[in-house]
Amino acid sequence: MTACREANSTHPEFNAEDKLWDAPLDLSALTLTVIKAYSEGSAENKDQEKDGFAFVKKSCLHCIDPSCVSVCPVSAMTKDPALGIVSYNPNNCIGCRYCVAACPFGVPRFEYDKTIARLRKCEMCKQRQADGKIPACAEICPTGATLFGQVTALRAEAERRHQLTAGKLAFFPRRTVDSRDTQERPSPHYNAKTYGLIEVGGTQVCYLAGVPFDKLGLPVLPEKSFVSTSETIQHTVYKGMIAPALLFGCLLFAVRRHGNHNKNEDK
Ligand code: SF4
Ligand code: SF4
Repeated sequence: MTACREANSTHPEFNAEDKLWDAPLDLSALTLTVIKAYSEGSAENKDQEKDGFAFVKKSCLHCIDPSCVSVCPVSAMTKDPALGIVSYNPNNCIGCRYCVAACPFGVPRFEYDKTIARLRKCEMCKQRQADGKIPACAEICPTGATLFGQVTALRAEAERRHQLTAGKLAFFPRRTVDSRDTQERPSPHYNAKTYGLIEVGGTQVCYLAGVPFDKLGLPVLPEKSFVSTSETIQHTVYKGMIAPALLFGCLLFAVRRHGNHNKNEDK
């Protein structure tokens, strides 16, 4: 979170009581990535649901078919066709906040306290990537809990981890998925599934966890992206122009009736 602040020039969010600690509870226009904690019962067992605890990193998931891009009326949100980064252009933005309402993960945050406000969200450190660096969160993470790489390589790594036996020693890369900088440690227990492979058409940020994903604030979502669902509805409604013709017919009928009614009143 601190590395993210440095990379994106956001200042700490001090708590209300003593204004001392940078302790944001959620994403905001100042906090583009946040680590949240899950705990249950005695909270003794790491990455386990019962009497356990776990951490989860929240930020933009850079959806493959992003709703925020689809709803933006002025193309202020765009998806890079090569890297897949979902970017924001404040110069185009008209502040409608459709993207805030459309994101299934509650990611984009608006600067409500500013006169000239922007949206803020993770842009996968695109400024660092342009300089040949990796995102700051992956660069700083000491354990490889956050890893950067090609989506196909990350998904393959997730699959490799699903094949490991919990408790047995295994090697885990740090910073980048193909890094030679690895740590050997006991393999944790993982959920059977990887989050982000199918949810709303897939996301470029994927999650592995030992605790059910919905307990970590990752919602249960349909496989089809909202974008393709809305397109299907539009295409069905407009198929053969039947619905508009019917609507037009109804409107015409209503207008005629109204016109006749007025004529009768004039007599
Ligand atoms: S997580 Fe939300 S803000 Fe990020 S790309 Fe997906 S829809 Fe857009
Ligand atoms: S608030 Fe800006 S980025 Fe979001 S949908 Fe509206 S114009 Fe697009």
